[in-house]
Amino acid sequence: MPVELTVLGSGDAFNSAGRGNACYLLRDALGALCVDFGPTALMQLKARRVAPNDIDAIFITHLHGDHFGGVHLFLIDAEYSSRRERPLTICGPIGVRSRLERWHELAFGKASPNRRFQLNFIELDAGQTREILGRRVTAFPMAHMQPTDSPLGYRFELDDACVALSGDTAWTDALIELAQGTDLFVCDCTEASGTSPQHLSWEALAPKVDLLRTRHLLLSHLGASMRQAATTIEGGHVSLAEDGLCLTLSAGPRTTDTGHAI
Ligand SMILES: [Zn+2]
Repeated sequence: MPVELTVLGSGDAFNSAGRGNACYLLRDALGALCVDFGPTALMQLKARRVAPNDIDAIFITHLHGDHFGGVHLFLIDAEYSSRRERPLTICGPIGVRSRLERWHELAFGKASPNRRFQLNFIELDAGQTREILGRRVTAFPMAHMQPTDSPLGYRFELDDACVALSGDTAWTDALIELAQGTDLFVCDCTEASGTSPQHLSWEALAPKVDLLRTRHLLLSHLGASMRQAATTIEGGHVSLAEDGLCLTLSAGPRTTDTGHAI
């Protein structure tokens, strides 16, 4: 089966332009996983007719509500509606387990009397490479609200494609290694212009695009200014994410002189 990435949410924390919080569904021959799971993610999964029980793992890039604030809804759905029995793995930066447990307790109380499935947590340090559910995953340090959180970008080296996602970040040279040789790189680009210590803008990212050496640069976590500037930004191997966008990936020449798609 070819690797597929479906954008379940392409918007920023504010649901700008009526888009869902940034969230991605990655499917390969081994199964399905999500990267980030904000408040709109469960609705988006069901709107795309994806059964929550098909999700093997949820990777959280960082501990902000627009990226993890729907996990408790996934868990309560698993308990009472989808009646999950398969194990679920949640991966994230150090502290993800305690943050999610507190979040769940605030929302629904501590008891989970109907939970019939095993819930596993894997906490990752930046720089770590792990074999997770049969996939080679490397966590990269991103630049977002440091040092209180440990934001991570993830690189998935799958049998048929290499996919990386930045989560939220300002520019950091770690992006170069994260994106290097990927078939698809999903990158924060929240605003069209300006500089921020938390997020990338197209103005900040555009001069660096050739350094990333990815076949397809998909800009996401989009604010309203990015939607308005879309026609001036999209072209070549650069495009903007959209809720419901589904990309089929296959491994190919990973780099060229320019790093662009052939
Ligand atoms: Zn965000």
